[in-house]
Amino acid sequence: MDLKILSYNIRGLKDEMIILATNARTLQNMINDLLTFCETKTVDITLDFCNIMIFRASGKRQNYEKWTLKDKEIQVRTEYSYLNMTLASNIDSTAQVKKLRSKVKKALSPLFPEEIITPKKQYEICRNICINIYFTSYLHQYWPYNDDEAIDQLQGYFIKRILKLSLQLKTPLHVLLLETGSESWFLIYLESYLNYITRILYERSPNALIYKLSLLIVEHKLLWAQNLSWKSSVSRDNWQNTCRLYIEERRKKYETKYLRLQQSVDVFYKKLDYTKGQSYMFMCENLSVPGIRWIFKARCDLLCLNKSHFSKKGYKFCQLCKTKSLETIQHFIGLCPSLKDIRKAFLKSEIILEQQDIIDVLNGRRGWEALGDYVHNAWEHRCENIRFKKVG
Ligand SMILES: [Zn+2]
Repeated sequence: MDLKILSYNIRGLKDEMIILATNARTLQNMINDLLTFCETKTVDITLDFCNIMIFRASGKRQNYEKWTLKDKEIQVRTEYSYLNMTLASNIDSTAQVKKLRSKVKKALSPLFPEEIITPKKQYEICRNICINIYFTSYLHQYWPYNDDEAIDQLQGYFIKRILKLSLQLKTPLHVLLLETGSESWFLIYLESYLNYITRILYERSPNALIYKLSLLIVEHKLLWAQNLSWKSSVSRDNWQNTCRLYIEERRKKYETKYLRLQQSVDVFYKKLDYTKGQSYMFMCENLSVPGIRWIFKARCDLLCLNKSHFSKKGYKFCQLCKTKSLETIQHFIGLCPSLKDIRKAFLKSEIILEQQDIIDVLNGRRGWEALGDYVHNAWEHRCENIRFKKVG
């Protein structure tokens, strides 16, 4: 399918015209035709405003892929911004997603200093604005690729902003997603994208450009059609069922992937019940943001204890007590004798010896508020007492 001209007249901006062709020779013929047409209408086309883009998923540009305007070669570009979309010649959406991410981050940043909006509400606002406004407007033309984590990273970024966690803090994405128990935005986007494709296939006129382009995608098994085959004889119900099964399959893959990551790292977190995260993170109305943050850091071993997973400290032992114990999260939560008074006050035990009991504490068995208060007070006590203490 070769398209003669697409023209957009954007208010206040110059006209832009696009010619689409399926092969190099046709494109040159179409450029020549356009030039002839413009000459008859006394319209001038200058080389500076002409660009060529070759769309292909792989492979190099061939020697014959050159085009001229008035005997001068037209520049071939690999990226072009058109109608707020960054088009890449390798059909890669990375640049567009990157641009979108910084746009969304900027637009939503006034939300985070707001103390009166609960974390749960902030999260819902971020999710709804991202999915229903930004993704729908700027991403629907892009097929979500198999290993595209860019959308989930955006989700992780907002979770960190809501919890007021330092953006420098190395928090693995799977930990952020598992702890919030929230549906991956990538999967929500995938669902929304397939609804968009469905509307094109079943509601648009066969003469519509978008319908014709979709048929080309099906014919060449590109983008979504690599994973989902479609024929015009398939009923809408059957097609929607196929889409649902596909999303379900992707959801299972996602869950397996994040759970595998949880188990692959040698941290105490892998012993915890991650589904408990949902109870304190965005669902518990009583917890303040600092409370949630203390629990999150304790559960995910992000407290910077001397022997925590991400700590690079040379001295690994507890500096509070004289037991010569490694300062692990287990020691901090249940075992350190120097924290027994604080533990008694908030967790109702002076010492918690059994590993399973420590796991239960971190799973909220003794109350989320109690855990948040214990971690906060114990950490303050630790900081005050080891500030001037000699190491070793
Ligand atoms: Zn200790």
